[in-house]
Amino acid sequence: MRQDARERDLAKERIERLFTLAEDCFKESPILANRYVELARRIGMKCRVRIPKPLRMRYCRICGYFLVPGINSRVRTRPDGKGRVVVTCLNCGEVKRYPMVKEKLRRRGAATG
Ligand SMILES: [Zn+2]
Repeated sequence: MRQDARERDLAKERIERLFTLAEDCFKESPILANRYVELARRIGMKCRVRIPKPLRMRYCRICGYFLVPGINSRVRTRPDGKGRVVVTCLNCGEVKRYPMVKEKLRRRGAATG
């Protein structure tokens, strides 16, 4: 059914929107931000839509908190070898490692001379 794909598209949009809302309201009400994350995750589960990668780093899958680097999460990049991002949830202490999401270097080996 084509309707299905459309629904997933909508779900994805909603998830992204909820994370934006969470970001916006976090300062005033972290609790509300957490609610938005919860909703986003529910939509994802219901519609079988994966939460986009950059957004997955924005919440803790253990305690469900919306994570803001420097406030309730610590983000470290590992300089050694393969780039990795280490995100620590300061609420529950969950540590999650992600491969560095970085655009491939486009300008590789610029013309010499
Ligand atoms: Zn947590």
